[in-house]
Amino acid sequence: MARTVIQKIIQNYEIIGYPRLVRLNPNVPWKTRGNGALCIRVGKTSGGIKRKIGVINGKDVFCSSTSNAGLDKSQQRHLATIVKETVETQARIDDTNTNPGYVLLAERPDEELYWRAVTTIVPLDEVQSLLQKHDAIFEGYKNCRGLIGATAAICWEPGERTFELITYRPQQRWGLKRVVDAVSVQHLDADCPSTFDNYDVRNHHNRIVPNSPCPILYGIRGDDPESLMTASMLVKSEPIDSWMMFETNQGTDNHLQNNSINQIKPFESVIIQGTVVENPFTIQGGHVLFRIQDNTGTIHCAAYEPTKEFRSIVRGLSGGDLVDVYGGVREHPLTINLEKICIKKLSTVTEKIENPVCPKCGKHMKSKGSNQGYKCIKCGTTSSQPRLQQKTRSIKPGFYEVPICARRHLSKPLKRMTQHSTIAATGTSDTL
Ligand code: ZN
Repeated sequence: MARTVIQKIIQNYEIIGYPRLVRLNPNVPWKTRGNGALCIRVGKTSGGIKRKIGVINGKDVFCSSTSNAGLDKSQQRHLATIVKETVETQARIDDTNTNPGYVLLAERPDEELYWRAVTTIVPLDEVQSLLQKHDAIFEGYKNCRGLIGATAAICWEPGERTFELITYRPQQRWGLKRVVDAVSVQHLDADCPSTFDNYDVRNHHNRIVPNSPCPILYGIRGDDPESLMTASMLVKSEPIDSWMMFETNQGTDNHLQNNSINQIKPFESVIIQGTVVENPFTIQGGHVLFRIQDNTGTIHCAAYEPTKEFRSIVRGLSGGDLVDVYGGVREHPLTINLEKICIKKLSTVTEKIENPVCPKCGKHMKSKGSNQGYKCIKCGTTSSQPRLQQKTRSIKPGFYEVPICARRHLSKPLKRMTQHSTIAATGTSDTL
């Protein structure tokens, strides 16, 4: 859809800055997969530096860094016709979970709406009245929830940002099995360190290739547009007929909020510091659960089966360990679905090595039964404690994340967590 809209827009207008792919609250229960929205800034008379942002059907596409003039009302209406036509012909409106919407705004509303839409649940009527107040052109389909994402995407001001280079298949190949060589993707992963979430070697998951029957062949994510172009040249695949570079909030952890346990609400995503209450346990299906507590309460945390080898880290936790957990909040039962964990301090765990030795006789005592202590059968001396030793822990303090195959679009990979965030240069006076 992005490609088609851009292709039509550039016939009459200028694209200002990179098109934006904005992910919103990943825990909204009625979302489509990925909960994403697209924002394109459009102007008429362009200025500043031209930058190549893609190729559509063999033709280079550029964006301008600034716009000298916004669009007048009739140009806005014309633009709306283009968007409407594309949404109505290309969105999968018949899909039960798809509720598209489009919004055109001459001025960006406050960024605060973006932050609420990426972290919480924003009511639709609030967005509709904001759009009316800003004299927006907009249309929602079906339950109209697409308006929330579209408006929030416009409100995003890229502070920390990443990029995704998306390639498209020629129409005759839509729906066919995708041909993308896995080995070449592993090579690009090794050779382009500023890219992320490309390939999960352990779980044989080629993450750059989508599962859905959409026209996208693959998308490579990374910190730097130049490196992404290099990376895409390393991918051996079936022919592509277009590609486009997007500025995104993927891999930024924008969805997470520091919180205390009693403030946790379902459908949000949180970072909670707490102490592990008891040793983790595995339930049917291979899901691993444990509880943490802080001075406001207790909550369950879960590493579900799809998080694969991450579960062995979680199983290594013990009561008393100090951790920061990162994850989305499930409603019933209220549980943090782990995306990452920082193990800050391991508790000292002791284990029984043998029955106590009688101090008088030097012989091992006998157990009197479970939890009833020990007794020397020769002289009758008793003891309540066996001989203990400090248990060697299977895990070390540090950050651990779910594997690439289980990662959310918004989750910041650990390899990005030590890097400095980049600041975006944004265009001005654009119709969005
Ligand atoms: Zn004795």
